[in-house]
Amino acid sequence: MWPAGTDPDTPRHRGLNIAPSRDGQLNTDSDSQTNYDDCMTERLYHTDSTLREFTARVVAQQESERGPAVRLDRTAFYPTSGGQPHDTGMLNDIAVLDVWEDGSGDVWHLLDRLPQGDEVRGEIDWERRFDHMQQHSGQHLLSGACVRVLNAPTISFHLGADESHIDLAVPEVSWAEAFRVEADVNRVVWEHHPVEVHVLDQAELHKVPLRRPPQVTGKVRVIWMRDCDAAACGGTHVCETAAVGLIKITRIEHYKGGVRVGFLCGTRALEDYQRVLRGLQEVSAGLSVHQSQLGKAVGRLQEEQRQARRELKAIQTQLVAFEAERLWAETPEASGVRQVITFLEGHTFEQALAIASQQSTHPGTLAFLAVSEAKGTRLVCQRSDDLHEVDAVSIIRRAAEALGGRGGGRPDLAQGGGGAQPQEAILQALRLGASGE
Ligand SMILES: [Zn+2]
Repeated sequence: MWPAGTDPDTPRHRGLNIAPSRDGQLNTDSDSQTNYDDCMTERLYHTDSTLREFTARVVAQQESERGPAVRLDRTAFYPTSGGQPHDTGMLNDIAVLDVWEDGSGDVWHLLDRLPQGDEVRGEIDWERRFDHMQQHSGQHLLSGACVRVLNAPTISFHLGADESHIDLAVPEVSWAEAFRVEADVNRVVWEHHPVEVHVLDQAELHKVPLRRPPQVTGKVRVIWMRDCDAAACGGTHVCETAAVGLIKITRIEHYKGGVRVGFLCGTRALEDYQRVLRGLQEVSAGLSVHQSQLGKAVGRLQEEQRQARRELKAIQTQLVAFEAERLWAETPEASGVRQVITFLEGHTFEQALAIASQQSTHPGTLAFLAVSEAKGTRLVCQRSDDLHEVDAVSIIRRAAEALGGRGGGRPDLAQGGGGAQPQEAILQALRLGASGE
């Protein structure tokens, strides 16, 4: 039975008796670490992290809120702790859904149902476990490289379902620095150093170059990757560094005064590379350019789009001006005044404002226009400067009220709105509004 260390990798042993585990629970500087000497459950993964099958005896069972749970005399199932999520698998033919440790250091297994009899055969979901071992071992190596290259200590670790991260106690990490860390840590992977597990007395700890001093009494379980990293830890690790595979930093962001570094190891890194490459291939094919030219191609597209927007805006302005003049010219003059009263189908309110503005540059003109929008009818009334006696506000209010809405503005320019109405009803409201003047 191993005692825990104090590295972020180290399991924490605080908790309620039957508290369910939380996947990838963050373990920071745990100050509440129970010595494993007192634990009841023998943890087979401590001496053999490659053990996939085992037999054990059920020594306790209970009904938790989420279903039945059993405690075994020994287990190869890793409970959620130290930033590493729990294992899953089977006990006999029953699915193991969650694994956690209680305040006494005992390990509980949440099951579909209780097994018959006391003897059980356990089988770990190896794909999930090996993935966790790759991410977790990779974290040790990455934390070691961050100290070597950036003098940046790790203060916490989280192994997520998709991505893992470490939090570094430095204010800033650039991508150039991250690439230097990646080069260093992957070199260490390729050098295939053995990953040794040592259980040491406090007096022996000076023999190991621990990245952080442990803060527990009694024996300490140390994961020693020679010439790369040494840390007190109760988790599961690969047997040599090469088994971690590629280590890739995927994200750098500021977090609580420090820096959060996201990373992927092994199979996850490979699958991410495949995903990214597929995405690049699709974009590359869509733009008919080689992947190395994508940056330039996107730059060209953006410039073309800006140019197209400028041209479109110029054409729209011309079109609105043309339409404003056409409508004005078609409107008969009565007593020296042209009342352009119309519903502009398929126009935006901004276009209606532009049309009214242009028409009112002609002396003796009252432009009273309406458009339909998703929320209802919108109105604008604008008169030329010489029509001092005409009050656009009164006009717009009469029409808006007829449409169940309201309006306001200045005597020369007013806006308003009302409910959605058929075109004929809107025109009727406009005529009613204008008739008072
Ligand atoms: Zn570890």
